[in-house]
Amino acid sequence: MKFAQSGLFIVLFILFLVFVVYQINIDRSEPEYVEDVIAENLDTVQIRPPTLLYGFPIDSFTIIENTIRRNQFLGEILSEFRVTDQQIHELSLKSRKVYDVRKLEARKKYIILCTRDTLPRAEYFIYEPNEIDYVIYKLKDSIEVSLNQRKIDTVNTAVAGVIENSLWVTMTDAGADPLLIHSLSEVFAWQVDFYRIQKGDRFKVFYEQLLVDDEEAGIGKIIGAYFNHNEEDYYAVYFDQGSGISYFDENGQSLQKQFLKSPLRYKRISSRYTRRRYHPVLKRYKAHLGTDYAAPTGTPIRSVGDGIIEEARYSQYNGRYVKIRHNSVYTTQYLHMSRFGSGIKEGVKVIQGQVIGYVGSTGLANGPHLCFRFWKNGQQVDALNVKLPPSEPVNEDKRDEYDVVMKSILKQLDSISFDIKGDSLTAYVIQ
Ligand SMILES: [Zn+2]
Repeated sequence: MKFAQSGLFIVLFILFLVFVVYQINIDRSEPEYVEDVIAENLDTVQIRPPTLLYGFPIDSFTIIENTIRRNQFLGEILSEFRVTDQQIHELSLKSRKVYDVRKLEARKKYIILCTRDTLPRAEYFIYEPNEIDYVIYKLKDSIEVSLNQRKIDTVNTAVAGVIENSLWVTMTDAGADPLLIHSLSEVFAWQVDFYRIQKGDRFKVFYEQLLVDDEEAGIGKIIGAYFNHNEEDYYAVYFDQGSGISYFDENGQSLQKQFLKSPLRYKRISSRYTRRRYHPVLKRYKAHLGTDYAAPTGTPIRSVGDGIIEEARYSQYNGRYVKIRHNSVYTTQYLHMSRFGSGIKEGVKVIQGQVIGYVGSTGLANGPHLCFRFWKNGQQVDALNVKLPPSEPVNEDKRDEYDVVMKSILKQLDSISFDIKGDSLTAYVIQ
């Protein structure tokens, strides 16, 4: 009886394990971010001891790893490991339909799995044309060739930090992939002026790290992010409401706005928009209906939004300038250029971020700078203070779904600490 009971217990336990594994598999294939899945990924650190190499148990082989030298033939490599000319001939014939040995390139990595004898004999030759693919040339028993792909794992990863000098240094010190910096600056392009990151600005990013054989192989998407810039909090939550990758704030508003925060990488703002200022060249009071960005001659100037070039010409006061009409509401103008960007002329379409010219001091200017002017509905307005409408928010019918995702991601972001010790930065990576 006792035996039967423990037998039943074992069966139930196995069923339970199967259920657990099944649940994990379900969660992994689920595209939505369920709170528990995120928590699980953040909390568990999984370190698998590497016991398999390309699916082969590493203990059973002597492993030779090398790169193909220039003008080196496969026969030359393999003949050292007791592979006969006959086998090499057969291999080259059989490889043609799968991955021709004549396509093997110099400087690429190969691995030979040999018998563990005093005179090792090659059993498998493995070639890696790129980070994902690998070709197995089987030499043991019968000769076979197969093209395989590595599995890409996605690990949800978090990184946080307080900026001391630059975002780049802070993020790379925190162990983040440099690609993440680019992605983050895209997510917050309309909220954070990445040309003007301040000391003390803070960030937390929750993103997908891609792994191939436990080696970092790029990043996936940013799932959620927080940025404190100039003492303002900004949240970004990834959500696809059917129109592709979009980031929304905690209120379901899109982070996409229509314009870049600034049209160039500048040294300082030398003059702001004002109805009355003392003109340094004219030596009298005059309204300044633009923003002057001081920057070295030759600094690229970018269109702050998509649009059509309305004017690209020279005038006595404006010097070489470009005026862009973005839509029926907004127009921007860029003055004192040393030269125009390639292909910039009247009537040409430009896209946001496109270089339209280079900083200069043509026209009425006492030094190299860009005078940037902004029109809203035909009125000149202050580009630094103009309120711009966001792009499409989360649709009403997706709002409940979004709120669940958003709350989960914000909770995760809030649980990440900056871990500051005095003035020094300590950021960390959870895997
Ligand atoms: Zn100006």
